[in-house]
Amino acid sequence: APGETIVRVSGGTKDYGGVHAVRGVDLTVAAGEVVGLIGPNGAGKTTLVNMISGLVPPSSGTFEVLGTTPGRTPVHKVAQAGVSRTFQHSKLFPRLSALENVLVGAHVVSRPTFLRRLLWLPGARRDEARAAAHAARCLARVGLGDRASEDAGSLSYGDQRRLEIARALAAEPSLLVLDEPAAGMNHVEADALSELIGSLAAEGLTILLIEHNVGMVMKTCDRIVVLNFGQVIATGTPDEVIANPAVVEAYLGGD
Ligand code: ATP
Repeated sequence: APGETIVRVSGGTKDYGGVHAVRGVDLTVAAGEVVGLIGPNGAGKTTLVNMISGLVPPSSGTFEVLGTTPGRTPVHKVAQAGVSRTFQHSKLFPRLSALENVLVGAHVVSRPTFLRRLLWLPGARRDEARAAAHAARCLARVGLGDRASEDAGSLSYGDQRRLEIARALAAEPSLLVLDEPAAGMNHVEADALSELIGSLAAEGLTILLIEHNVGMVMKTCDRIVVLNFGQVIATGTPDEVIANPAVVEAYLGGD
């Protein structure tokens, strides 16, 4: 339900040997929110979302995400509960078509489909057609409806980022985690991405967005959380955060 807390992190901490990547972070995300996670390089943003999505076990703290306990719940169960994400470094298969790349994402939820295909059991062909139609809808959703048969590797940089979002959407997530989706995009592409995120949110998707493009974050997010040296130094609306002296210092001071 809208407004319901779907992510609750308390005291989230990750140490790598002597490196305190994330230190005592408290964070909640409510259903339907678009939350931005910003901070200088090495602030701990990726580590925090890796813990939220169950990829990296926390050193300490509690994580509750869509009824699962990332860190204890296996990562595929966290995904099945409705967490889907993109990565900072592309994980597309460049020699597969855009549609095939999205189909890979869809298999997160449809293990029976995958098994029927594998064993060529009755229903496989119907499942296949249904999965392809679903993948095509996901492509259309991100504005790549006419690129389905093109190799992922031949798409423009911005389109590859959108394809990764389409693949993440194929799993029909409740929470979409985007790790620097606008990195390397030009202004036009970043604006289009911001609009896409807004329209996904309007359909009820909750979005956690890591982004270096501060202008894009300000325009896109309902609320922003600022990390610095693994700790939350500010949280609030875009206007509140941009006026916060600690944030200005983190960006202009130490970096
Ligand atoms: P960026 O904006 O550069 O992606 P970030 O805010 O996402 O940075 P993290 O990637 O989470 O930051 O890294 C936080 C700190 O933890 C950094 O000092 C990093 O070197 C360290 N770190 C991250 N992952 C590991 C790891 N697997 N092993 C050792 N140190 C790590």
